[in-house]
Amino acid sequence: MQIAYTKEELRAGLQEARGKRIVFVPTMGALHAGHASLMRQARELAGEQGVVVSSIFLNPVQFDNAGDLAAYPQTPETDIAVCRECGVDVVFMPTPEMMYSADRSMVMEETHLSTVLCGASRPGHFAGVCLVVCKLFNLVQPTDAIFGKKDYQQLAILRRMVRDLDIPVVLHGAEIVREADGLALSSRNVRLLPEHRAAAPQISAALRAAAVAYAAGAAVEEVRGAVEHALKSIDGVRIDYVELVDAETLHAPVADDRMALLAVAAWFGDVRLIDNIELVRA
Ligand code: AMP
Repeated sequence: MQIAYTKEELRAGLQEARGKRIVFVPTMGALHAGHASLMRQARELAGEQGVVVSSIFLNPVQFDNAGDLAAYPQTPETDIAVCRECGVDVVFMPTPEMMYSADRSMVMEETHLSTVLCGASRPGHFAGVCLVVCKLFNLVQPTDAIFGKKDYQQLAILRRMVRDLDIPVVLHGAEIVREADGLALSSRNVRLLPEHRAAAPQISAALRAAAVAYAAGAAVEEVRGAVEHALKSIDGVRIDYVELVDAETLHAPVADDRMALLAVAAWFGDVRLIDNIELVRA
């Protein structure tokens, strides 16, 4: 496995790979089994002939909250070991100074899907995501890239970016990896207080119950309201949003013959957790 610390090293490291299938998994590090699952899927997709590239870059531009950025865990040594175990060929680990010119003046803004859910409470977040992913796509020039459905809105927005800007890459969505008790794996979980960690699986339990009710024909507002009610009953939790929307447009209305998305965000102390589930009528 090769580690590229600069854009030049990355370019040199990928020279041989041009013309082959290149499968890319971008991350912000503090890698866990969710990231590892994406990397293994990338290895599978690339096959023996193809190349798997992963980036570990804590992108300051996508943080709308300086405290969240400062508290974000960073574990570069273990991250490198995880990449190696998962069969990654090239890891790209630049610094913010290498990624961004000090007088950067370009923005990359999606204007419809970014206005709702996390976009409504994290101004500038998705513009920062689109900017960094577009830059990474230009540097790596992958044929394929894999993103987790854990960040469902991010995946939907990146699909829109690739479509609207004709970026020549195929995006793949990967299922959410969860702890045994249902909590979606997240780099932020290590920051949860013990009582919050104990309560957090109630989010996924509420989502699972909602999926059953939705499949059985319950009304949209009834299903959404039940999840909100369940989250409100958790001590000390502050709900950011509970939304039930069309899974592709991320907006209402939700037609019965379309995939729906139930998405939540909630603060446990100073840690903001997100989770979601796809819903279909039986
Ligand atoms: P991050 O490092 O948080 O930017 O995440 C990097 C990639 O891993 C994104 O595509 C995430 O959606 C994905 N990811 C993070 N957590 C999980 C999870 N629990 N299951 C599946 N994918 C995940």
